[in-house]
Amino acid sequence: MRIVAKSHTFEACPKENCLLCEAGFLFRMLEDARGMNCQASNFSRAFGANPQIAALGLIDHENDAAKSVAYATLIQTFNRFLLECMTSESTLPAIPATSSSPRIPPSPPPSLLKNAPAGVPVKAPLAQVVKVDAQSLSTCQNCSVTSERETGLNVIDLQYPRRVRPCPSLEPSFQVVGARSLTLSLSRPQAMSNEPQPATSFSAILSSSIVRETMARLPCSSCRQNTHVRIRRTLPSDAARLPPVLTLNAGVRTAEELELWRDGREKDGSRFVLSRFRLGRAKGGGAVVKVPEGEAAEGEVEYELRVRPHSLSYVLGSSGAG
Ligand SMILES: [Zn+2]
Ligand SMILES: [Zn+2]
Repeated sequence: MRIVAKSHTFEACPKENCLLCEAGFLFRMLEDARGMNCQASNFSRAFGANPQIAALGLIDHENDAAKSVAYATLIQTFNRFLLECMTSESTLPAIPATSSSPRIPPSPPPSLLKNAPAGVPVKAPLAQVVKVDAQSLSTCQNCSVTSERETGLNVIDLQYPRRVRPCPSLEPSFQVVGARSLTLSLSRPQAMSNEPQPATSFSAILSSSIVRETMARLPCSSCRQNTHVRIRRTLPSDAARLPPVLTLNAGVRTAEELELWRDGREKDGSRFVLSRFRLGRAKGGGAVVKVPEGEAAEGEVEYELRVRPHSLSYVLGSSGAG
């Protein structure tokens, strides 16, 4: 990301208050300072000038007693906003036509990845580094018409399984079914205590956070009803398109979810967060996350933990197969 930002500062970027430009200048300043303090005033000014910042509540005004958002939530929103904003900024727009010169289309972004699959369109430079390609299959629950679209994830929000309740609840809930299959199914109102407990390992939570099924109330373009639409997010068949950096937001909101992060919960000396894992694709577009053991299988990519907590970054491990 630092390299993409620094090289962006050498391009003719027309955007005012471009965060990627300012991040690039800041990285260069920090490198030149060799450990001395730097003032991030230009970056802060550009950040404050972005109209989305206020809407997202990302400015922490001092003396704002009414504000009750936890810092952990703020930093995760900041992480997502920054990656999304900088990813779009990393593609330069076309130069508009003037009276003397025609409109100049942007040159296609260069491929930054050594093993980039052939025939796949090259994405914006930062997207090549951080974006996970996914597909969303929407099924209208009224007319059963399905539609598919490409979606990209700059950040993966970890989603925790809802605890199985001992008594019937009134709302429908989604639950992870089975430790191995990691598919989500809509459990009808009653989630009974004799159902299997959802898997709560890091691998199970990560795979069900990437590939998941949700319900939304949306207008259907086919039957024209405002209806329930089932949306299933899957990984595309070409797992080699996994990015070299995977960013996860911890998304812990309750004491119960925090308890899942406690080291030693499963057995003495066990740790929740994996320092390395392999991510691959399962049948039907599912995601498989596993502890590296032996040779990586075809299409599996190995990631290594770099930063924690609240947001985790994983980079391609040395023995990554992708
Ligand atoms: Zn820029
Ligand atoms: Zn419909």
